[in-house]
Amino acid sequence: MASSGGIMACLLGGRVGDPPGTILELLGLGAGLAASSGRQLQVAVAGGVTEEEAMRLGDHGAEVVYLAETNAADVDDAASLAAALKAAAEEARPAVILLGHTPLGQDVGVRLGFSLSAATVTDAVKVEMRDGRPLITKPVYGGNALATFAPRGEAVVITVRAGAGTAPEAMAGREPELIRVSAENPAAHVRLVDRVREEGEEVRLEEARFVVSGGRGMGGPEGFEALRQLARLLKGAVGASRPPVDAGWFPSTAQVGITGRIVSPEVYMAVAISGSSQHLSGMGDSRVIVAVNKDPEAYIFKVSDFGVVGEWQQVVPAFTARLRELMEG
Ligand SMILES: Cc1cc2nc3c(=O)[nH]c(=O)nc-3n(C[C@H](O)[C@H](O)[C@H](O)COP(=O)(O)OP(=O)(O)OC[C@H]3O[C@@H](n4cnc5c(N)ncnc54)[C@H](O)[C@@H]3O)c2cc1C
Repeated sequence: MASSGGIMACLLGGRVGDPPGTILELLGLGAGLAASSGRQLQVAVAGGVTEEEAMRLGDHGAEVVYLAETNAADVDDAASLAAALKAAAEEARPAVILLGHTPLGQDVGVRLGFSLSAATVTDAVKVEMRDGRPLITKPVYGGNALATFAPRGEAVVITVRAGAGTAPEAMAGREPELIRVSAENPAAHVRLVDRVREEGEEVRLEEARFVVSGGRGMGGPEGFEALRQLARLLKGAVGASRPPVDAGWFPSTAQVGITGRIVSPEVYMAVAISGSSQHLSGMGDSRVIVAVNKDPEAYIFKVSDFGVVGEWQQVVPAFTARLRELMEG
């Protein structure tokens, strides 16, 4: 694919009408890269998005929007979304293609990179342009080191971790140029059988400004109810380290860490979690980290801004009750 050199931010699946923070961060990151390298900011949207919704991205800085249509019944079907974005990329011929590092973004991103024969880098925490080429920084060795990559080739596909970009100010009334592209559905290798909504997913983990996660020390599924109450009060989300997920106490979709979700909320509260490197690589970029642990030597305290040494059974309900009092009165 011969490159036109633009920066393309890709937005997936039916949620751009009221863009959540992660989408806006991607737009902000793309706008910064475009401005610093004198390139055009292109936005590709795919998956159940109407023209009216796509046009509203102009309020958030999009100058050109490629509305990539698929006739897939399932707006979360990664193969169809990748095919739609490929059609947009072939039309726009960008040098850099950005997607969010969400489970769907990863699935689509690697398919898109493969189909475009483009270099693909996942889980970027920093992207910058130097001498006209993207430099991409990502955690390696379980989050114990950072590596910077300078991929060769006409185009590079990058999945970007939440928090790597800054959401641009909304400016109402700007109309982007809209270009429609369409793609045939690829042969279906996966069939959607059912769609199940996870309990407690009112606020998505990656978008929550407050996340409270429980670890092995919660002792069982009941403990997570106390965390849910706290999360509800602060309009946040509940996560977990891997042991509670392996034990079936909490859904695997809520696992935070190197093999789970990557979050970077304003406040991350780690309850009964020891602070393994695999867990830290999923939440280490949180702005403020609060730990509750009965072991004063727990490693989590070394990476926390605030810590409470104590049994969660005493600390968490008391904290929630006091917070409720303060908020209500
Ligand atoms: C390839 C690989 C990938 C992995 N990916 C992930 C991942 O994505 N995410 C992840 O989290 N882990 C992951 N792990 C597992 C990881 O290595 C750790 O085993 C795990 O993070 C530990 O979870 P924990 O802190 O909940 O449990 P533990 O390390 O057992 O810590 C439990 C903590 O609870 C405290 N505690 C106990 N009771 C109480 C109480 N009543 N009140 C307060 N504190 C209490 C204890 O003091 C202790 O610090 C991975 C491991 C491997 C090998």
